[in-house]
Amino acid sequence: MRELPGVGVGRGTASGPVLRMAAPLGEPDQTPLQGDAASAKAAVGEALASVATDLAKRGVAAGGDAQAVLEAQALMAQDPSVLDDVHSRIDQGTNPERAVFEAFKAFQDILSGIGGYMGERAADLSDVAQRIIARLRGVSAPGVPESETPFILVAHDLAPADTALLDLEKVLALVTRDGGPTSHTAILARSKGITAIVGVVDADSLADGDVVIVDSAAGVVVTDPTAEQVAEAEATRAERLKARTAPLTAGALKDGHAVPLLANLGSPSDAAAAVAAGAEGVGLFRTEFLFLDAPYAPDVASQKASYVELLAAFPGKKVVVRALDAGADKPLPFLTDKGEENPALGRRGLRALRHHEEILRDQLTALAQADAETEADLWVMAPMVADVEETQYFVDIARELGIRTPGVMAEIPSLALLAEQVLEVADFVSIGTNDLTQYTLAADRMLGSVASYQDPWHPAVLRLVAQLGSAGAASGKGVGICGEAASDPLLAVVLVGLGATTLSMTPAALADVRAELLNHTLDEARAMAEAAVAAPSAAAARAAVAAVSSSL
Ligand code: PEP
Ligand code: MG
Repeated sequence: MRELPGVGVGRGTASGPVLRMAAPLGEPDQTPLQGDAASAKAAVGEALASVATDLAKRGVAAGGDAQAVLEAQALMAQDPSVLDDVHSRIDQGTNPERAVFEAFKAFQDILSGIGGYMGERAADLSDVAQRIIARLRGVSAPGVPESETPFILVAHDLAPADTALLDLEKVLALVTRDGGPTSHTAILARSKGITAIVGVVDADSLADGDVVIVDSAAGVVVTDPTAEQVAEAEATRAERLKARTAPLTAGALKDGHAVPLLANLGSPSDAAAAVAAGAEGVGLFRTEFLFLDAPYAPDVASQKASYVELLAAFPGKKVVVRALDAGADKPLPFLTDKGEENPALGRRGLRALRHHEEILRDQLTALAQADAETEADLWVMAPMVADVEETQYFVDIARELGIRTPGVMAEIPSLALLAEQVLEVADFVSIGTNDLTQYTLAADRMLGSVASYQDPWHPAVLRLVAQLGSAGAASGKGVGICGEAASDPLLAVVLVGLGATTLSMTPAALADVRAELLNHTLDEARAMAEAAVAAPSAAAARAAVAAVSSSL
């Protein structure tokens, strides 16, 4: 038995035989163009159009997040600047397959150089190029293997088009060699509730037919498992499936202590899926995702339309909208300074908004107008807030523009350390555990080489949460959690024990968390929290909590 480590996505477990994804097409050779340039260009034009149509069709079939990803890919296939580049390479005597390969590669290098969110999109371009080259060669595009029986799909990486359309009856789990926690494979797997582990460096050692266990909560692929291990994995999987079909009750602990379960959303079109998964409202609406491709700041009217659409889906429910969080992993051309050496420590989040106050004012105005026309209970929070002075700045401007419930995100340790004073000013705090972990451990959350630091079970992170939780209890104000930590069922219980009043997560995670909360009373959650903060490391905190949980 061997354990291959990687980055687990979601909490699922699966066991079964491996089936590997077909190797990508080889690099086109450099033989010069045969025949005339005009017909080569026509063939490329036909291939681009048919690939774009196919991707868009797959998008419609997939819906949700997947549709946005696939539509973006369809646009990449028809990007006029890439097409110009392909044409000029053909004019210089390059064969059409090679011209497509080189032009897309050049575009990909530019995106990788930008890094962050755009860098992660670079892999999508190589998939588009492969599809176009396959079309030119008259072979089928590389993709997911066909099988009569369920299997565990192992690949270097999955193209968004493949992830979006996976047959979930057949694919028990995904294992990829490449990709980090924010790669598209991870994002789509999380939003579709697919058991997955990405960034498994040794994934190439897995061969067709090998039986493995994929344990995404532990972030390991277990090779050559014993019969007992397989039985245990199957039992865990069956229990999880049961939780997923349980009634959609309001979030609560075993003793009835209410813990509203909210959804993290990036587009108003995700609202229906969140409601269907039993979300009791929205705990984090990431507005920057509406504007990632916008070259200019969006105007009040267009923003208002998006917010009205969102709020109208949650009448009478709480909806927490975050002001634009631009910078680092989410650069926006109209807000983010170029050329910062450490963008994660740069003018991002509220700092960028304050520097462009007119953009913040427009956004708050649009939100207040949308609030006036809808029935939801709108709360608005600022991202990346450092201290009390910044809290006061945001709360004042939000109230001036008609926001009834302004709050701040706790993502920087300095804010957590000032929790009591912050809550004298803000109406609520929402803890972004992704950034809070990144800044507490001083490890870039986008960097694979330090991914092991990005662990919200770290007792240093949990102590900051505890400080916020106590300040929340003392002031009677809400302290929510909206980072990935809330979607880890056992950690969610610990966070409630530390004083979290609501939990917000990707809708696919709601069922598992709802089920786990029902296993523990508030006293038990507090005992688990105490064990976690007393531990010396993240691994020890997990082990201590598991021990307390099983002894109760
Ligand atoms: C976080 O940092 O935990 C958070 C919720 O914000 P984002 O992941 O969008 O930075
Ligand atoms: Mg954040």
